[in-house]
Amino acid sequence: GAHFDVVVVGAGSGGIAITAGLLKRKPQLKIALIDPSEVHCYQPGWTMVGGGIFDNDTTKRSMQSVIPAGANWIKDAVETFVPQENKLLLSEKGAVYYDQLIVAAGLKLNWAAVEGLPETLGKNGVTSNYQYDLAPYTWELVRSLKDGKALFTQPPMPIKCAGAPQKALYLSADHWHKNGSLDDIQVHFYNAGAVLFGVQDYVPALSSYMEKYHAGLHFGHNLVRIDGNARKAWFSAKAEDGSEHLVESDFDMIHVCPPQCAPDFIRSSPLADEAGWVDVDSATLRHKRFSNIWGLGDVTNTPNAKTAAAVRKQVPVVAENLCSVLDGDEPVVAYDGYGSCPLTVERGKIVLAEFGYGGKLLPTFPKWLNDGTKATSLAWALKAKFLPEFYWQGMLKGREWLTSPDSLKTPDAESKQKESVSP
Ligand code: FAD
Repeated sequence: GAHFDVVVVGAGSGGIAITAGLLKRKPQLKIALIDPSEVHCYQPGWTMVGGGIFDNDTTKRSMQSVIPAGANWIKDAVETFVPQENKLLLSEKGAVYYDQLIVAAGLKLNWAAVEGLPETLGKNGVTSNYQYDLAPYTWELVRSLKDGKALFTQPPMPIKCAGAPQKALYLSADHWHKNGSLDDIQVHFYNAGAVLFGVQDYVPALSSYMEKYHAGLHFGHNLVRIDGNARKAWFSAKAEDGSEHLVESDFDMIHVCPPQCAPDFIRSSPLADEAGWVDVDSATLRHKRFSNIWGLGDVTNTPNAKTAAAVRKQVPVVAENLCSVLDGDEPVVAYDGYGSCPLTVERGKIVLAEFGYGGKLLPTFPKWLNDGTKATSLAWALKAKFLPEFYWQGMLKGREWLTSPDSLKTPDAESKQKESVSP
């Protein structure tokens, strides 16, 4: 099999950005990017497609067009990891060998975990912004609904872009509010979790929009079955005594956020933790057991918000640390858990949630310019006008604007520091 200095598994947000970032630092590196997909999508745009704001075409480009110059794209899927031999097995093209491996394979949308869902997706009023070809159907349903019941669901964590299920609700309800039909449409949010948003600072602003749209909030309700023809959905709900029971609801349209898990080939590999995710140190992003393996993006077990915004901050961390290891040193920088979720509460306004590990607020802008805990039009302009270009022209090209990782903070470094100050 072929041998490379660095092999990157997955050419999504993380895979493309890290390849570009590494080639900027060390242009002579021989890097292979492995991904079977013909296309690369800007997934954060799908919320806007479902809200009728972006055209779907703008969220998709050919994979070839985003592969960084100087990288080798292997169009195939990884099937097996053999870390003891620094080897991967591809589904068609055999073995590939590496010195350093970066795993950025994203996560699996587990549609089949909801009984009846795969059969009825994209028809019978059943839609989801989580898939490229379904997002336009959301907008079609929203535009045509004049009265009745609209449901929006959120599965158990972790999911990518945890705000996306309620973003779909807000943009839909905002449309009905503005065209005068909201009085005739009942809006309901069925959330498997116990709170509207995991970081409390953002909850008041979001709650006020739920009130404005008269949305019924159903916490602890997890979608388990759907019958598109009958237009009925069932949720498993926990009673106060801890017992589970089924709750039934009819619907005219339902926006489903699918259950999510680690991809099967990751889950079954020696790289996985018990839950199936790539087991990395949450600061250095280096694998806990294999020192020449790194994890990046949605596929890892780091407890941050799984977002492209998190990937943007993780890329320079992996790039710096991997280069340091190639030079014979230890990892030098730490990831602080930054992730961001622009909550589109209405057309023209966004609550820009930005936070790191432990729910620590990490706003990019000073409060006088943009208060992230409030709905602002500046944040909308950012999402609607700047972020897509920032993604295609900045992040995917290895331009690390506004991204300065923390300096030396690794567990090793900390203990060394302690040693040196102790008497
Ligand atoms: P991905 O970009 O998903 O890429 C994974 C890649 O791995 C894919 O190209 C896939 O083909 C490849 N792959 C899979 N299996 C294999 C295999 N066996 N071998 C080789 N390659 C493989 N983020 C934000 O920051 N802000 C937002 O507002 C936002 N909104 C979102 C809204 C929606 C509806 C969705 C779906 C996502 C949103 N996100 C948002 C999340 C963001 O898109 C992801 O967090 C980000 O794309 C993760 O990057 P990744 O590289 O980890 O995974």
